Amino acid sequence: MQKVYAVILAAGLGERLGSHVPKQFMKIAGKTLLEHTIDKFDTSPLIDEIVLVTNPQYRILTEDIILRSTFSKVCKILNGGRTRRESSSVGVNSIPDENAFVLVHDAVIPFITERILGECISALDKFDAVDVAIPAVYTMIRVNDAMLIEEVPNRRYIMRGLTPQGFTVRTIRKAHALAERDDEQTATDDCSLILKYRLGQVYVVVGDLNSIKVTYPEDVYLAEKLFQIKGYPAPDRASLDELRDRVLVIFGGGRGIGETMLRIAAQHGARTYAFSRRNGVDVRILEHITSALQKVIEREGRIDYVSNTAAVLHAGKLENRPISEIVEEIEVNYIGSINVVKASYQYLKRSKGSIVLFAGTSYTRGRALYATYTSTKAAIVNMVQGFAEEFQSDAIRINAMNPERVAGPMRRENFGIEPEETLLCPETVAEASLKTLLSSLSGQVVDIKKSHIGSKS
Ligand code: C5P
Repeated sequence: MQKVYAVILAAGLGERLGSHVPKQFMKIAGKTLLEHTIDKFDTSPLIDEIVLVTNPQYRILTEDIILRSTFSKVCKILNGGRTRRESSSVGVNSIPDENAFVLVHDAVIPFITERILGECISALDKFDAVDVAIPAVYTMIRVNDAMLIEEVPNRRYIMRGLTPQGFTVRTIRKAHALAERDDEQTATDDCSLILKYRLGQVYVVVGDLNSIKVTYPEDVYLAEKLFQIKGYPAPDRASLDELRDRVLVIFGGGRGIGETMLRIAAQHGARTYAFSRRNGVDVRILEHITSALQKVIEREGRIDYVSNTAAVLHAGKLENRPISEIVEEIEVNYIGSINVVKASYQYLKRSKGSIVLFAGTSYTRGRALYATYTSTKAAIVNMVQGFAEEFQSDAIRINAMNPERVAGPMRRENFGIEPEETLLCPETVAEASLKTLLSSLSGQVVDIKKSHIGSKS
């Protein structure tokens, strides 16, 4: 099996965006675009090493990002060149093994999936090069300098090129060597060099239809929304055995997901504490949380993981609902979570710990009769993104879990009996939440979907 390298190109200055930092360093959904992109390659079992190509002007910033990250595959940070082609050449020429595969990727294209990486790598067993592209939905036209149409190609054969583009290292190096001696420097990608110098066939993998290259200010907004819709699948790499001897505190842990998280964590050797109204802790009151955590510290000396699962849901038309009930909902769901984060901050800072809060699929869109509840969930997501940035320098991670409908007491009390096959079981949600606590993610909305679980559902 060949080794697979990724060369991530982040040396452009992104002048079209018109912002004070190049687009790859802009923060989207809690972290820089560059981090989102590296994360895809770093967490993929298909990728062995990552070569990062950056702009010398932003080298310190890039090094800082890598140093405080948990990325484990970035083996080199190189200064790029004046053009994309030069930057790519620097990257592929730094790889020590001519027989290895390399995927060259633009840092500004964050939406890559494991499927795309897998199909690119498999294609390299048969073809000299591989490109990723998406079918053109518009009619494409070719114009001349006078803005007159010269040709309207058959759309069936037109696609929009993206990255990654894959090659054997030997082939792409040869292409760059030829390009360096060429007077014409018009290539905006690497696959065109393979065609230009007749170095082989280029196979095309169909990319993610929603994938965008973040180029203009509007793309930043769009990318943010796409991240929100797509969320992150619950991390699968963490082993729950890492919970052994760690201290986990759950507020609202008297029943439902909280209770299940505690049970599973204890089975894996964690030291667990649950606080809820049942034992006199009301998340609406900061002092209750402060003294609960104080008790844990006195016994354990540390706190590693904290979660707030306390929530209330009331439904009804606004005009019929008493304001006291609405205030209770906001106080438990929203202020309660702020209180939990605020009170645990000092301990998590010491342990470089992690927090999970709970959103829910309703956060993306308000629903009639549930607007006050769903808006508290939207607030949780916004808050997690902001706190993740704030806590980055303390190495505290914070994420929002976004489970689809969960079978549990709150669901049953509000929706009655529902078909079992449409509900997630609390064990699945609890496990994903514990894995998120153990992971390096921060500022993310972590999706838990029936479809992610496959046979376990
Ligand atoms: O210029 P364009 O938007 O096509 O850039 C595509 C990718 O190439 C970006 O990720 C950018 O950072 C990278 N690039 C580079 N070195 C350059 C110019 C662009 O690495 N000199």
